[in-house]
Amino acid sequence: MNVIGKVTVLPQLPPGLARLSELAYNLYWSWTPQAQALYQDLDPQNWERFHHNPVRTLLDVPQARLEQVAADPAYLARYAQVMADFDAYMGKTDTWASRNAPDMKPVAYFSMEYAYHESLPIYSGGLGVLAGDHCKSASDLGLPFTAVGMLFHQGYFTQLFDKDGWQNETYDELDLTTLPITPATTPDGQEARVSVRIGNRDIHTRLWNLNVGRIRVILLDANVPENSEEDRKLTARLYGGNQELRLQQYVLLGVAGIRALRALNIPGDVYHMNEGHAALLSLERIREQVESGLDFRTALETVASSTLFTTHTPVAAGNDAFGYDLVDRYLGKWPGRLATTRDDLYALARHEQVWDNHLVPTFSMTVFALNMSRAANGVSELHGEVSRKMWNFLYEGAEPEEVPIGHVTNGAHNLTFTSQAMRDLLSTVLPADWTERLEDEQMWTAVEQLTDEQLRGVQLTMKREMIAFVRSRMREQMLRNGASAADVAATDTLLSETALTIGFARRFATYKRATLLFRDRARLSRIVNNPDRPVQFVFAGKAHPADNPGKAFIQEIYKVSQEPEFRGKIVILENYDMNVARHLVQGVDIWLNNPRRPLEASGTSGMKASFNGSPNFSVLDGWWREGYDSTNGWPIGEEREYADLNVQDDADAFSLYHTLEHDIVPRYYGTAGGDDSWAHTVRRAIETCSPRFSMQRQVIDYVQKYYLPLAARGAAVAASGGAQAREIAGWKTWVRQQWPYTSLSAQATLPATTQPGQTVPVTAQVNAAGINLDQLRVEAVLDRSGHITRVPLTSQGDGTFRADVPLKDSGLYSVGVRMVPEIDGLSNDLEAGLIKWA
Ligand SMILES: *Cc1c(COP(=O)(O)O)cnc(C)c1O
Repeated sequence: MNVIGKVTVLPQLPPGLARLSELAYNLYWSWTPQAQALYQDLDPQNWERFHHNPVRTLLDVPQARLEQVAADPAYLARYAQVMADFDAYMGKTDTWASRNAPDMKPVAYFSMEYAYHESLPIYSGGLGVLAGDHCKSASDLGLPFTAVGMLFHQGYFTQLFDKDGWQNETYDELDLTTLPITPATTPDGQEARVSVRIGNRDIHTRLWNLNVGRIRVILLDANVPENSEEDRKLTARLYGGNQELRLQQYVLLGVAGIRALRALNIPGDVYHMNEGHAALLSLERIREQVESGLDFRTALETVASSTLFTTHTPVAAGNDAFGYDLVDRYLGKWPGRLATTRDDLYALARHEQVWDNHLVPTFSMTVFALNMSRAANGVSELHGEVSRKMWNFLYEGAEPEEVPIGHVTNGAHNLTFTSQAMRDLLSTVLPADWTERLEDEQMWTAVEQLTDEQLRGVQLTMKREMIAFVRSRMREQMLRNGASAADVAATDTLLSETALTIGFARRFATYKRATLLFRDRARLSRIVNNPDRPVQFVFAGKAHPADNPGKAFIQEIYKVSQEPEFRGKIVILENYDMNVARHLVQGVDIWLNNPRRPLEASGTSGMKASFNGSPNFSVLDGWWREGYDSTNGWPIGEEREYADLNVQDDADAFSLYHTLEHDIVPRYYGTAGGDDSWAHTVRRAIETCSPRFSMQRQVIDYVQKYYLPLAARGAAVAASGGAQAREIAGWKTWVRQQWPYTSLSAQATLPATTQPGQTVPVTAQVNAAGINLDQLRVEAVLDRSGHITRVPLTSQGDGTFRADVPLKDSGLYSVGVRMVPEIDGLSNDLEAGLIKWA
């Protein structure tokens, strides 16, 4: 048909169900299965067809059906219960925050992607799930918190496999009227708009409001008539397009994002940049300060003092860097706006990299984010360590462990991923308010009371649902690809509910080694086809559209799944999204993850599986290195890295097969009781992982470790018109200028050998080049086989510093002396970035 216009005829909600619409516009339903069931029951087919979207389901439900349920007492009772729970949740004043952080200042959280639910496809993978879950727990805990992101109107992409198992991508234009978003309005009631100049164009954005429980998310949308066709595409696709588009998207997220908060009068005292994508928000915040009269350096200090940066990946491709030509094109006007110079601004992001065999300076989003914040963290203990090494070069002369990047280990939003059946079972042993104190480790020990039979029953229910889901998805795919009637019919027998079922689903980035399992096919075949103890696998995952090696992995798995010996026992599902993720983490028996250590910064899918009693079987990388305790799952490989990747792959594959054959399979099929039983591992997985890797624990860590201290520091530095910021900025400029003229020499009287506990005298002479001696920390550094200790030397007043340095233990010590400039009020020792060794 030739469409000349569109009109939506809204159904009239019967008075008794009037609030179904209100609830549809709050993602509270996304972690509340009973709320979802209210919409599902209105129209199960549309519910499936439109990705479980309450708004869409309501739009299309016939009036007669609404009248029908409005007269159904059972439905009305469920409705009343859901609404009562919703009201209790929304109205709760006694929250974790009210008890533990009553004076907490508002946080503004910026992320390129958010995964809340499959019906809002503005995410690609783990980073988005993490951001979405972070918002949900911020709501659960009652934090003053607002998130800012982008409304990608074509989303990421829908993944379809062709009949050879090759990934194709399709993009569908989202119909915004069917999403749970509303136009954000300014305090005077106008639809809010903000614009930002990118290159030589003004880009206009519309702002959308998304309610996630008690918190708000503001989504930026450039798809408005005021923009040119080209510019409207700035918010079309997540991670689509080239570097040029990316950089413009980052300007939009950061700069327009800050303007959106201002236009909507939303306060933010602490700014959290989730990944380097968000780093340009600092440009706009500095501009505001400069406009109010501060100089660039003072403005920078005030802004950075209240900013946290979370880095998420050690993989180079995950750390964007742009050539100066592009940066000139899109950020060329910013040095002027910030009253600084191009050199000074670019220096704050400078990362020299080899491009096309040349060493060139680049504008690195990660480096910029590190310089624009006064607190930074990785997402697991090991990732913190890896990040400190990775960015050590920015702190010349520093030891890796001094690099100011800490860590908060990731978590996942328990309720989003835990099945209703498992929640019901947990409710029989946990206290009534268990969903509000998920981080409480002591509370979770009650899981020990669950019997083997109870767990087996619930897990079988979940497994059946998962298998039904897999079969119906595979059937659709077969029909679409024109498979034979026999092949279509065969989907009815895919997977067995009695076989040990292993899930593997995640983005198909090559470091995640999705095909590691196939390194020794004959051995795999023996494992899978053991007649008494069969094992089956379900895979899913998207490769980035430009990642051909990732797509080749998908195809390899697809081809294996078609071979006679693996048919029906290894399957790979299309279009991994939150819906597929939920089905798999709930329905499989164990969860497999075998990334190439140490590249998996955290990983979170194994946490979700553990919440549902599917123990994790993974390389000791990211979260699992902390989570594994020898009773709650299984490790793959050893706690080490390898110089030769091939050797690493072999060793890990060997370990994977070995543990499957000798531990996992016998345990699953065995009849042993007590600690050797399968149910024991299941209980341990639930009870240990649920609290420690709850998103609630993660967000509490962020509050205590970062949000509260940054709010205090940010306020102190900005007080009195930025007095302290000015002092710090002025002092840094001065010491950086004088530093080349300083000198340091040192002597230590060291005997050839000595006993533990003896001291050695260490003396240093400093030429401070006018820097106040009180502002120099001169210290002896002792390295005993990699174990570093520092002993301060005391100023003798005349440029001499000395101390008797104790050698506490036996062993070979290397002794050095260095000096570092410092004043009160710095966030860390290396803030000035200056270290001089004698
Ligand atoms: C949890 C999740 C991820 C992240 O999984 P990892 O184990 O961190 O790779 C990616 N995509 C979806 C849809 C998820 O639910």
